[in-house]
Amino acid sequence: MRSYRIAAIAGDGIGKEVIPAGLEVLRALQARAGDFELEVVDFPWGSDFYRETGRMMPEDGLDQLRGFDAIYFGAVGDPHLPDSLTLWGLRLNICQGFDQYANIRPTRVLPGLESPLRGAGPGSIDWVIVRENSEGEYAGHGGRAHRGHEIEVATETSIFTRVGVERIMRTAFTIAASRPRKLLTVVTKSNAQRHGMVFWDEVAAKVAAEFPQVTWEKELVDAMAARMVRKPDSIDTVVATNLHADILSDLAGALAGSLGVAPTANLDPSRQAPSMFEPIHGSAFDITGKGIANPVATFWTACMMLEHLGEKPAAERLMRGIEAATAKGVTTPDLGGKANTAEVTAAVVDAIRSSND
Ligand code: NAD
Ligand code: MN
Repeated sequence: MRSYRIAAIAGDGIGKEVIPAGLEVLRALQARAGDFELEVVDFPWGSDFYRETGRMMPEDGLDQLRGFDAIYFGAVGDPHLPDSLTLWGLRLNICQGFDQYANIRPTRVLPGLESPLRGAGPGSIDWVIVRENSEGEYAGHGGRAHRGHEIEVATETSIFTRVGVERIMRTAFTIAASRPRKLLTVVTKSNAQRHGMVFWDEVAAKVAAEFPQVTWEKELVDAMAARMVRKPDSIDTVVATNLHADILSDLAGALAGSLGVAPTANLDPSRQAPSMFEPIHGSAFDITGKGIANPVATFWTACMMLEHLGEKPAAERLMRGIEAATAKGVTTPDLGGKANTAEVTAAVVDAIRSSND
């Protein structure tokens, strides 16, 4: 029997609601398939852990995670702690510590769901956004001087390295080449940001030569935001910096119906360290504890995790299970539905159990 070790970090807020739902669905899949098993270890890290220990994760946390095949992550963020502390202390610590430089964000309007865009029906908004996940605007460089004084200065420096940009371009071109349309849009802001962003455009042109089968084009990030709304069918695969892709992919999630359906994978393509799979949304204080968090993003990212582990049939079965639930209208309020987290989970589990392929 093939066996995988999964580290589950539910984190904060609705992370503690959607990760248990995801684990339930994974257990159903494992039982249905019968040819692989998941050994799941829970790590109670996050804001409560911080209140007890003064840290979001233990000092040797990365060492504890290193031997796992994948990390299944919920969300971080606490109304009583600074967001920068919670994000850097756990999620970014793992992404950067394991050099998970490729953040992959698929979107698609699932069956039964409605996009806020007129005319964008199921199957449309079929994009993959590739986000640079190790440097750029979130490199953590900068500082503050003369705090509280009239002459106070704060800097937030973006870092772009040749190694960093080349490897994310190669990942993006590889994904574009694997998709039917073979179209890649390289997003920058190289008119206003004339150093790092012009560098991105140059590296894109260089890497493009290795992928003659891919059609590629450049787009400025502001124009891209408008194009996502006005001409969604003109887009296929997109590559952008850490900040730009962060913003564009929330927009993509919303256009596909809700942030609650949008998944992401933080990959170390060299596979030296475990990769991390999560919904793109945060801890959602406003709905925490109500039992209505949409678990679809957390299920969809489990599909990405299974695919990464080499369990493609199980990944596909799970995707069909998710689509069976959305097609029947079993959805949470963020999608206009009346179901709660447990009911959506039960619908997906039922679809998995009764699948006969
Ligand atoms: P958020 O994603 O938590 O919520 C934005 C809005 O979307 C809220 O109205 C929320 O109710 C809704 N929403 C999000 N996920 C949903 C789901 N699964 N089902 C139904 N509705 C959903 O973003 P925010 O409000 O900007 O941030 C809240 C906290 O989360 C902050 O502390 C922030 O730093 C953190 N955050 C963490 C991550 C992460 O862990 N990866 C990502 C984004 C934000
Ligand atoms: Mn984000």
